[in-house]
Amino acid sequence: MKTKLCYLLTVFCCLILASCSTDEPAFTLSQNTFNDIPPEGKNLSLQIQTSSEWTATSLNKDWCSVTPVTGTGNGTISIEVSGNISKDRTGTIVIYCNGTQTNININQKALPEGKELLYRIPVIFHVLYKEKNNPKQYISANRIKTVLANVNQYYKGRTVATGGEAGQNINVEFYLPETDQSGHQLEAPGIEYVAWNEMPIDCESFMESKNSKILNLLWDMNKYINIMLYNFAEIEDGIILGITSLPLSTQGKNYLEGLQSVEYTYLENSNLPYPQCVSINTLYFNQDTPNNSYNSADTNVTLAHELGHYLGLHHAFNDKTEDPNADSDYCMDTPPYNRSLYEQSVMIPTYQAWKASNRDMAVLEPGFLRTNCLNPEQTFTSYNLMDYEISYSDRFTPNQKERMRHVLEYSPLIPGPKRTASTRSATPQGVLDIPVIYEICYIH
Ligand SMILES: [Zn+2]
Repeated sequence: MKTKLCYLLTVFCCLILASCSTDEPAFTLSQNTFNDIPPEGKNLSLQIQTSSEWTATSLNKDWCSVTPVTGTGNGTISIEVSGNISKDRTGTIVIYCNGTQTNININQKALPEGKELLYRIPVIFHVLYKEKNNPKQYISANRIKTVLANVNQYYKGRTVATGGEAGQNINVEFYLPETDQSGHQLEAPGIEYVAWNEMPIDCESFMESKNSKILNLLWDMNKYINIMLYNFAEIEDGIILGITSLPLSTQGKNYLEGLQSVEYTYLENSNLPYPQCVSINTLYFNQDTPNNSYNSADTNVTLAHELGHYLGLHHAFNDKTEDPNADSDYCMDTPPYNRSLYEQSVMIPTYQAWKASNRDMAVLEPGFLRTNCLNPEQTFTSYNLMDYEISYSDRFTPNQKERMRHVLEYSPLIPGPKRTASTRSATPQGVLDIPVIYEICYIH
């Protein structure tokens, strides 16, 4: 008797469902296929017409994402396809509505052999502030936009002052995303303001922190570069302008010298015990280089420099205390110099003379010169963005470009398409034991 009742109930329910689905109008989509998506990636938009609830799911989340993933009634679904440097590929978005499923196919070409991809990378600035009315804490959206535009000039190989050709075009463009991680419109693109009790902050403790309050600030590192802006606590000897974690490298044939290696090609935020990010000292964020003058705290240079670290560059000068004459940046085309020797014998006296001369640039001139510590006969002028002190700091070299592009193409937790197949399924669980390695950047 019980079985019969169940059977009848089931039939009854099915009848109700069937009548519902035939009464409702079918949903319609603006298109079912997207062909010839360029290797650089593209943002697509799909219109759905219905009066019912629907869901949108990407079956290829590592290179194709949809927002929103659910909705009711007519709507626009954004599909973000990332760049492709491996091979031609097809992705699928599943739209489910009213008991019916439709697959949307996305066909994307790979980058042709020998071509270089323009990496477009979203950056999110987390502005930590204690006093909202303090312009050195609550940095304006306009200022951030201007600084990032200048940084992009450097990465295009142009000088900010003249716009002329200077160094290597890294073919990387940083941009401020319009929406947050869940697809909600940001009030100021690429910026989130976060009230913070502690200010100033000890930047080294911040970069080493295992504190969830700090780790939770970070947006998905596979998609964004996280830039923290806050007042740095003072140090005794000089000023720290920025501090940045170096990226990780994969092991084996794609290992990049000078980086910490890990056995995985794909990791997630939750695998790292520390915040992998850039931190910039906002006490200097309003600083530019005045015309015909010099400013070693120019924030445009600082951010370009810190992003260089984030993409795997070391300082151009010698950074290893155990051997002050070694070449420590793994780039043959950036001659090394003994930084402490330069500071004592050149930088400090030149800087003092320059200030005493009412900032006569001719007096500062000898400060731009360095002596190659591997070949003391050779002097050179400092133009490198990974140098500082008295330097033109406006360009990268071909070897530095190679390193940065290698990191973009292979390193886990770095945004942008990878040459190695994404092995998301093999992502380890939990926090890995990875030492934090950061570059600290200070001036005297
Ligand atoms: Zn540095």
